[in-house]
Amino acid sequence: MSIKTANLGFPRIGRKRELKFALEAYWAGKSDEATLLQVARDLRHRHWKLQQEHGIDIIPSNDFSLYDHVLDHAVMVGAIPDGYGWTEGQVSLETYFALARGKRAGDAADCGCANPHGTGRPALEMTKWFDTNYHYLVPEFQAGQAFSLTGNRPLDAFLEAREIGIHTRPVILGPVTFLKLGKARDGSDPLDLLDRLLPVYRQMLAELHEAGADWVQIDEPCLALDLTDKARDCLTRAFSALAQAVPDLSVMVASYFGAYGDNLEAALALPVDGAHIDGIRGADELNRIVANAPPHLTLSLGVLDGRNIWRADLDAVLRDLAPLVGQRAADRLQLAPSCSLLHLPYDLADETALDLELRASLSFATEKLEELAVLKQALSGNRETVETRIGASVRAVAMRRASRKVHDPLVEGRLASLTPEMAKRTSPFAARKAVQAHHLSLPPLPTTTIGSFPQTSEVRAARAAHQRGELSYIDYRALLERETEAAIRWQEDIGIDVLVHGEFERNDMVQYFAEQMDGYAFTRSGWVQSYGSRCVRPPIIFGDVSRPRPMTVDWAEFAQSKTAKPVKGMLTGPVTMLQWSFVRDDIPRAEVCRQIALAIRDEVTDLEAAGIAIIQIDEPALREGLPLRRDDWQYYLEWATESFRLSASSVADQTQIHTHMCYSEFNDIMPAIVALDADVISIETSRSKMELLDVFGDTSYPNEIGPGVYDIHSPRVPTVEEMVELLEAAARRIDAEQLWVNPDCGLKTRGWAEVKPALANMVSAARLLRKRMSETDGWRISA
Ligand code: GLN
Ligand code: ZN
Repeated sequence: MSIKTANLGFPRIGRKRELKFALEAYWAGKSDEATLLQVARDLRHRHWKLQQEHGIDIIPSNDFSLYDHVLDHAVMVGAIPDGYGWTEGQVSLETYFALARGKRAGDAADCGCANPHGTGRPALEMTKWFDTNYHYLVPEFQAGQAFSLTGNRPLDAFLEAREIGIHTRPVILGPVTFLKLGKARDGSDPLDLLDRLLPVYRQMLAELHEAGADWVQIDEPCLALDLTDKARDCLTRAFSALAQAVPDLSVMVASYFGAYGDNLEAALALPVDGAHIDGIRGADELNRIVANAPPHLTLSLGVLDGRNIWRADLDAVLRDLAPLVGQRAADRLQLAPSCSLLHLPYDLADETALDLELRASLSFATEKLEELAVLKQALSGNRETVETRIGASVRAVAMRRASRKVHDPLVEGRLASLTPEMAKRTSPFAARKAVQAHHLSLPPLPTTTIGSFPQTSEVRAARAAHQRGELSYIDYRALLERETEAAIRWQEDIGIDVLVHGEFERNDMVQYFAEQMDGYAFTRSGWVQSYGSRCVRPPIIFGDVSRPRPMTVDWAEFAQSKTAKPVKGMLTGPVTMLQWSFVRDDIPRAEVCRQIALAIRDEVTDLEAAGIAIIQIDEPALREGLPLRRDDWQYYLEWATESFRLSASSVADQTQIHTHMCYSEFNDIMPAIVALDADVISIETSRSKMELLDVFGDTSYPNEIGPGVYDIHSPRVPTVEEMVELLEAAARRIDAEQLWVNPDCGLKTRGWAEVKPALANMVSAARLLRKRMSETDGWRISA
């Protein structure tokens, strides 16, 4: 018996994003259900065969999903809220997509923050899958929730694979993680539903066993989180019940995205047959687990990074594995990626435009399978057959370590000579506020927007034509100048106080900057699923980051030259640049972030020198970068806020620094928000009716704040009265002197037809309130 290779999940979207296009054609009414299902089936078959060809011994099934695996699971167990056209039995595609996208198809709104907020249609809420950039639909449990097996998905997948001769290990979302990811409408604890849910699992597993499945992979990534005793107890109860019900079906419990940490004891005591270990993030505990786990347990060693795109030094991996392998019978060990490969692009085949050295350092999903196969050969006494491939992997990593393309002595020197003063503004906020008030002379409740204006199809088509070489730079630029100037004129006309240039030249708020920085690379087809049919192509930070020349100054200057009012310079912050990229793994993330911060700092300095008086540094990803474990929060928040300040603090007191975050759950991170020391922060609040501002009031947030009064995720035009009401609600919580008036986020996904009246109303609302306040008791609005 030799050691086996196992995979935990494979990307679903397809090498050429076939699933995306099939879904979108189906939603648009351009194809039918049979066509969509056929594409999905073809993809599953192709991916199974691919894994087989690459010598993967344990191939997953039921890792595929038409939209989202958490939704699949909710639908499978009958956790379907009322109103989606389902009562019992099989669930139609119509119901499924209604849950995913709302009942009315069409106008999906993306603000570009990879943070889909839904559009006011009754789709289930969407949120981030642990700390990845994948989003799942949040299961919603009703009072008295009943569960039933509406269809046995893992069984169907298992049988489908068997038809083409592939014996798979079905993947099933575990009951405790599933309940924990969901929310109960009545505010009760979803974990209380466990006993109702377990019979469904029993039936599902019994049917699988009956059909000939020998193993299942039950995913309980909640084991990588801080768990309560209650949750741990639920895990024990759940797995005991399942072991009792289906004793002959072997269960591999899989946790990933982190170490087991304080959940280890509970995890190893579960009555299961195997456990998967994230050997990358949980590297420290790998040895301990192998040494101490009960001998009957099969251990799946997740030794290749399933979250990142770097090729491993296979010799080093083998060296680490050598002592472990001796401790346990080979048939009790499996080699696997650290987690499902869902978060990686499909393969490197298309990336012929990449620097050869860089390309040789990369490993996408398909290449990870190859790496696994090499490890297996080497550990099975056939090292000589794979020696060249091991050698190549060693050279690739060594090359990256030594490469002059990776290491820039200037950047590294700059980083070494950072001083604490560089991350501090010259004067405290109170002093800056006075200088800025004098310098900018803005009215009370100043109005502004978050940056982008509608990216019309004309602008997008022109950019695409320019990229294809069909539209000259001069003509492309001329179009952008016309759009920008028109936007300036129009903002002046309706009376906005602090203008923006509109970001018409930008494709994406990260990519636009990354393309202008050294140390970043871009793939042609490195698509990763973000949610549903939506994919992103994260840039790759491979080397020291710097900014060789100004990135935004010409557009800022151009816009500023058209008006006497202040135009905000608009930048993406270092934490967001980091969070939405694949990051090099040879130096700490904190250090990469500091490098980006210095690049942004250079831009801030240049903008100020060019006469830009207000500069906004967007950090929509700051909160989502929070580590999964509380214990790790403080360190993260320290370097994240320090990086922001490093990028923002080169300017004089009179230059006003704004930041923006498109969410409003600040409860846990208020001290960090204060520590950013931005002169003004704009946040998303319109939907919460300003309640989310409470925390700013409670902590006496000292600086200025622009709570969003216009929900940009909806095509609805808010009325003046509504916005006045929101502002009054804000002023009950925050001193009106601190308040700004702005939308929730950028407007690039909206159309001018809605944006124009909405912003005109916003200005009217601010004016009305200014008047009302000057007539009453000065700045405070009584409750
Ligand atoms: N300045 C960006 C814009 O307006 C901010 C986007 C975001 O926060 N996601 O588009
Ligand atoms: Zn935003």
